[in-house]
Amino acid sequence: MLADTNLGPTKLDRPIGICPRCRAVARSYDQIGKMERTTTDAILLTFLGTRGEIDISSARHRRHSALLIEHGRSRIMLDCGADWRGRLSTIAPTAVLLTHAHPDHAAGLSEGAPCPVHATEETLKLLRRFPIGDPRRIRPGRPMTIGGVRVTAYRVRHSIRAPAVAYRVSTTAGCFIYLPDAAAPPEDRRALAGVDVYIGDGATMTRSMVRKKRGTAIGHASIEMQLEWCEAACIRRAIFTHCGSALVRAPARQLNAALRRLGEEHEVEALVACDGDRLMLRDRGRRRRRRRGINPIYTRSATCDASSAQSWLRCHP
Ligand SMILES: [Zn+2]
Ligand SMILES: [Zn+2]
Repeated sequence: MLADTNLGPTKLDRPIGICPRCRAVARSYDQIGKMERTTTDAILLTFLGTRGEIDISSARHRRHSALLIEHGRSRIMLDCGADWRGRLSTIAPTAVLLTHAHPDHAAGLSEGAPCPVHATEETLKLLRRFPIGDPRRIRPGRPMTIGGVRVTAYRVRHSIRAPAVAYRVSTTAGCFIYLPDAAAPPEDRRALAGVDVYIGDGATMTRSMVRKKRGTAIGHASIEMQLEWCEAACIRRAIFTHCGSALVRAPARQLNAALRRLGEEHEVEALVACDGDRLMLRDRGRRRRRRRGINPIYTRSATCDASSAQSWLRCHP
């Protein structure tokens, strides 16, 4: 079970190596924390939860999908579903960003929030019954700076009742996009351009859950479809969160092997995130970054089978 203490920089009971080639990896959360503090513009992502709007859960996918971005003193939480109700004081976010108003993304705020909550006008309107003290309206397509990171929201097709956005987040350490619920890629081509890591919708592996309503695609694109979007946008790394029932039930090793094969067909390194997993992007300087790309370090949480992380992420793209 994922203990709440895992949300801070605590030590794992066993060290986990990541890069199969160079082995130059962080071996504990403590070490990652130290690396983050000594690197000027690192960004540390924690997959707080990785479960979609489903009835079942597991040790690996216990809570609704939510991502914590740590950058300097900022702790920005992306999405706050029902499973996070009453837990915000542990996470201590300095800002919350919501992709849309579905309960698995926003119902954790039903008792309010200890910080500003950023969302589109439609989302804030749908949540007006929640006692959110400091709501901030975001405008899709317009970049903003929150806690030192540049964030741009882009509209994605997912629901007519609860319109959704994806968040593109960039620092000098790298750029990622977060779209946990998506039936189609963002229409604005700027959203996926130059993205280093795609963090997408794990509702289904190959079976499409997209349907048409009033001529608009709604629901969830399969991982297979999203890998096609990544390939078309030249994105080489993808992590899937917001897991559906089949992914939650599947044995980790089998799941990651199937995903690896699927990713190889599209030249994308792909994996399914578990609760507590962490991804660190470090600033390598502009010249090195241009020459060798970003240098991501992915660390599996203690709840996960460490061997399933061995295939990914290479430190040397
Ligand atoms: Zn959802
Ligand atoms: Zn949704």
